[in-house]
Amino acid sequence: MLYERIGDGRVRCNLCMHRCLIANGEYGLCYVRVNRDGRLYSSVYGRVVSRSVEPIEKKPLFHFLPGTCAYSVATVGCNFTCLYCQNHMIAQYPREHGGRILGEEVSPREIVASAMDSGCKTIAYTYTEPTIFFEYAYETARLARAEGLNNVFVTNGYMTPEAIEEILPYLDGANIDLKGISTEGYREVTGGNLRPVLHTIERLSRAKIWVEVTTLIIPGMNDDPQALRWMAEAICGISPVIPWHISRFYPAYRMRHYPPTPIAALQEAERIGREVGLRYIYIGNVPGQGEETYCPACGDPVIRRRGFMAKENSLQDGCCPACGSEVEGFWFAA
Ligand code: SF4
Repeated sequence: MLYERIGDGRVRCNLCMHRCLIANGEYGLCYVRVNRDGRLYSSVYGRVVSRSVEPIEKKPLFHFLPGTCAYSVATVGCNFTCLYCQNHMIAQYPREHGGRILGEEVSPREIVASAMDSGCKTIAYTYTEPTIFFEYAYETARLARAEGLNNVFVTNGYMTPEAIEEILPYLDGANIDLKGISTEGYREVTGGNLRPVLHTIERLSRAKIWVEVTTLIIPGMNDDPQALRWMAEAICGISPVIPWHISRFYPAYRMRHYPPTPIAALQEAERIGREVGLRYIYIGNVPGQGEETYCPACGDPVIRRRGFMAKENSLQDGCCPACGSEVEGFWFAA
């Protein structure tokens, strides 16, 4: 899907904002899309490297059918090269192995059937980047929608506007990574650009897809108070009801020499986010901290969580039981 032939056997892939120009026999940057004689093929279609039933809270999506499970699925590959990737073994596998693909063959129909058999309300396209297994996610999402299941993307948001429009009719929610607010920093750490990510957050929100944003706070990289303020303002400018998950960094992959994020830095980010006007902020990767949802009007707790499990949900028709104010979210299954 979403490529064009541009002569000399070359093609342009228009799936993600890298818009790779790919010569015959070559791969795109993600190493999962290959040009064979002027046709672009996805080498990960139906090749599932990971699938499991998980609480939707683990995506993280805190305002999306709390207490339900998501059937989570991934192929190998990614269009980013994040230096701190927790899933680099599968995300970077094709790039680090010259386009080699791992994974069992599972059809979209089998994914939908397994999700229904396991009592999941949602299929989550996650762990790696759903954009690079777009055709597989698209077909699965289409079938899932017909069976009354919901679909969520956990994504770096680097899709093209064309890809967004293709998947929009089948998407119900998304958690989008906002990895920083500096253009240079984004390129250095991820290999991508900031602006398309903001566009994705905005476009999905405008289309009434339920969006939550995650930022991994990395000491010395994006924890500067001004940068945090700009990030919070960027999200709030799109919509103050977008939940912001500020996550603790632990040393990983090529950033093992960085220290874990001090708790104080996360609390400072939370403070700034509230000051800017975001209604829902959660501290992630710190068990027992920042997991509750509070009514934005009266401050009463309305959902209590422990370790990615919703333990108590007192919302009544999406409203606070104490003051009756709306608490925004995707609370009801289709
Ligand atoms: S999906 Fe892959 S091939 Fe297509 S533009 Fe993005 S990195 Fe390039």
